[in-house]
Order: sequence, then structure tokens, then C-alpha cells
Amino acid sequence: MTENAVKVAYLGASVLFILALKWLSHPTTARRGVKAGEIGMLMAVVGTLLKAEVVNYEWILLGIVVGSAIGIPLAMIMPMTAVPQRTALSHAFGALAAALVGTAEYYHGKAGLSASTMVALTFEVLLGALTVTGSLMAFGKLQGILPSRPIVYRGHNAVNMVLFGGAVAIAAYLTASPSHTGLFPVFVILGLVFGVLLIVPIGGADMPTVISLLNSYAGLSAAAMGFVLDNKLLIIAGALDGSSGFILSVIMCKAMNRSFTNVLFGGFGQVKLTAGAAEERTVRSTGPEEAASILENSSSVIIIPGYGMAVAQAQHKVRELYDGLTKRGVEVRFAIHPVAGRMPGHMNVLLAEADIPYDRMLDLDEVNSEFAQTDVALVIGANDVTNPAARHDESSPIYGMPILDVDKAAIVMVIKRGMATGFAGVENELYHLDKTLMLFGDAKAFVGSLAKELTPVPAGAGR
Ligand code: NDP
Repeated sequence: MTENAVKVAYLGASVLFILALKWLSHPTTARRGVKAGEIGMLMAVVGTLLKAEVVNYEWILLGIVVGSAIGIPLAMIMPMTAVPQRTALSHAFGALAAALVGTAEYYHGKAGLSASTMVALTFEVLLGALTVTGSLMAFGKLQGILPSRPIVYRGHNAVNMVLFGGAVAIAAYLTASPSHTGLFPVFVILGLVFGVLLIVPIGGADMPTVISLLNSYAGLSAAAMGFVLDNKLLIIAGALDGSSGFILSVIMCKAMNRSFTNVLFGGFGQVKLTAGAAEERTVRSTGPEEAASILENSSSVIIIPGYGMAVAQAQHKVRELYDGLTKRGVEVRFAIHPVAGRMPGHMNVLLAEADIPYDRMLDLDEVNSEFAQTDVALVIGANDVTNPAARHDESSPIYGMPILDVDKAAIVMVIKRGMATGFAGVENELYHLDKTLMLFGDAKAFVGSLAKELTPVPAGAGR
């Protein structure tokens, strides 16, 4: 009876995890996806607690209390802009659990462990250990506790290969003779050190890509744990986690026009300023009054949000501007670049928080053909994702990155605080075009002023 209940709970959880991933892939269904994932996880936990091999409910209860005492405040306190580092911490905890379970299983059954179990167990512990320290390094870099620049030294890739090779050799040896317990701690330490040295050479701004890769490692470690414990749900959930994290990293690399190896071994983030950066070039700028008048007298506007909108937390002011312009008959849409901001889906999340209708948000592929027919492209705190140099300047670090063709709109307006570069550290030639107007100021304050400057419309009126 209990056995059947466990099976049903596991089956239900597996189905919900798969549906959650499907639903999470679109903003309109994302909330449903989160709920499905939560219910699936609850079913998985309850199913596991019903299992006959649970020996001690007191310790489990204690774990739930301590975990909740850490997890709930963490989720409440962390601002939206700190989600990448919070995610890194979650991966560190998840991977720690996998590594500890693997270690306990090893010491529990060392003499009787089969070769196939040892392969899964060493895989689990190695990936788990390197993900723990790797994720902590990623957290430190994003939180500003560690220097975010790539920390590289001569031959760092060779040292990493030697460490990794050593860990794999010990894993092979332990698989053949599991009773050599003395080697196991060395194996774990190699994994932990490898995790540190793998991540410190990577620049802080590349961390979101790295975090989704670490997510993938944690998932694979959990899947291996499923083989060790003979738990099918863990195998399914781990495989889903492992593959989705990997696919996300690939999508992000593509959107940044970077290869996987360049992110992992390239030391990107040590970006030099381009030669032209020092050159004095003129820009045209204006204030909120003129900008608001241009906006309300146009028939179509595309808003391009970027990292600056997230930093300024300007999304609610953007909503006010959207409402004001829509009320005046202006067609307003949003162009979302896949790597705008600092984490996947960053802009979608912020705009959804401000209740911007989903059908107003267009992806890169949908929106690029629209710019040529658009009166105004209003860039709010975005930089690299709008830089035309990506299309033609082969010497630019962002050359080849697919960008939003903002420069094809009739008028371009750019809200940012000054002439500072974005993440890639390169000048943006968009700002020097004749059709571009710079609107200098903090995104939240400037967008707020734009909304205020719109001429009042009599109730019920609109174009
Ligand atoms: P960028 O980082 O290129 O530029 C952001 C701009 O926002 C800056 O130029 C800055 O200029 C401006 N800004 C900062 N604070 C404010 C503020 N308070 N008010 C107004 N403006 C502000 O951002 P994009 O979104 O265009 O591009 C994202 C970059 O990050 C890409 O290069 C991408 O490859 C990279 N990246 C993205 C990841 C993701 O998952 N989304 C992951 C890793 C990297 P100023 O200081 O003058 O105001």
C-alpha cells in the first residue's frame, strides 16, 4: 500500500517536473510552471518520507526547520538584481547534499559496492564537490566579496587539467578497489580545489552563464546519486536539471556570440577599452520635456530595456510611461534581447513584475524587422545589446553577437547616466548617430519625468 503511494507520488512528481520546464519556457505560462515545480517537489518529498528506509524522522524535521530558517529569509531579503548570486548559493547547497550523500554511501557500504555503483558514486561526489566550491566562488564574485576580474596565472588551464586528471585517476582506482578508504578524502579534496580553480579565472560578469553550467553539474550529480540510491525520481529530476542547465548555457553563449570554451577558459572580463574610447566624439542630448513631446507625437515606439533599467529598478516607472503613451494612442512594444541584463529572462521578469502585457514583449527575431517602420526606439539602460559595431566591426569583442537593430528606427533615444560602457567595455557607436538623442540621467528618475511631462489628456480621449 505504502509502496504504491510512493510510486504514485514519484510518478506525479516526474510528470509535474517535465510540465514545469515546458511551462517555464514562456512568460505567459511561467507562473504555472513555478507552481507545478513546487507541487512536484512537495510530492517528491512526501513520497520519500513515506519510504520504509527512512530511519529517523527527528533529524529530518530538524533539517527542514534549519533549511527553512535559512531559505525563507534568503528569498525575502535578496533583491531581484541579486538573483544570480542567490541561485549560486542554492546550487552550492544542493551539490553539498549530493556530495555528502555520496560520501555517506561510500563509507556505509565500501566493501560491498559494485563497480557500477562506484562509477556513479565517484561521478556524484566529484561533480558535487566541485559544484560546491565553484558555486561559492561564483557567489563571492557576484556579491563583490571576491574580485570579479578573472584571476589568472601562467598555466592555470594546465594545473586544472592535472587536478581533474588526478581526481579521475583516483575515481578509477577506487572503482576497482573500493576498500582503499584512505584515498577517498584525497579524492574529495581534489574535487573541492578543482571547483575553486575552475571558477576564479572567469570574470564576474560571465558568472550567470557559469552558474547555469554549475546548475547542470549539480543536476548530473543528483542523477548519479539516483543510480547510487536506486531512486528513479532522482535520476529523472537530475537529468532534467542537468540537461536544462546545459541547454541554457549554450543559448546564453550563442546570444553573446561566445564559444563555451571561451567562457570557461578565456579569462573574458579582462576587457581593454577600445582605441576609439579616448577619442572625443560629439553626442546630441536633450531633457525630459522635448523627449516626452517626441514620444507622444509618434505613432509607434519600441522600448529596449537593459541592465540599467534593472539597476535603477525603473520597471514601474516604465509601466507608467507605457500607460501614458498607450492612452494617447501610441503603439508601444518592448524588444527583449536574450542576454539583456545580467541573467536569463532578467527583462521579462522585471517587466512582468510591472504588469506589462506579455503580448507587448517581442523577442529579438520578431522585433528586428519592426525597427525600420518604428518612429522612436527608446533605449532604457541597455548598451551592448544595441551596439551596431557587433554587425560590422571585426575587431570588437562583441562582433557577431546578434543585436537589436535599434539604429534602424527613425529616431533613437537613449537613457543612461553618462557615456560609460556596458558589460563588454566597448564604446557604442549608436550614441554618435545623427538620429540619436541622449537622455542623461538615472533610468528611474528620467522615465518618471518623461511620464510626468506627457501633456494631460481629457478623460476618455485618445487617438
Ligand atoms: P550593458 O551592461 O551593456 O549596459 C548597461 C548600461 O546601463 C550601461 O552602459 C550603464 O551606463 C547603464 N546604466 C547603469 N545603471 C544605470 C542607471 N541607474 N540608470 C540608467 N542607466 C544605467 O547592458 P545590456 O543589458 O545592454 O547588455 C547586457 C550585457 O551583459 C551583454 O554584454 C551580455 O552579453 C552581458 N551578460 C548578460 C548575461 C545575461 O544572462 N543576461 C549574462 C552575462 C553577461 P551608465 O553607467 O552611463 O549609466
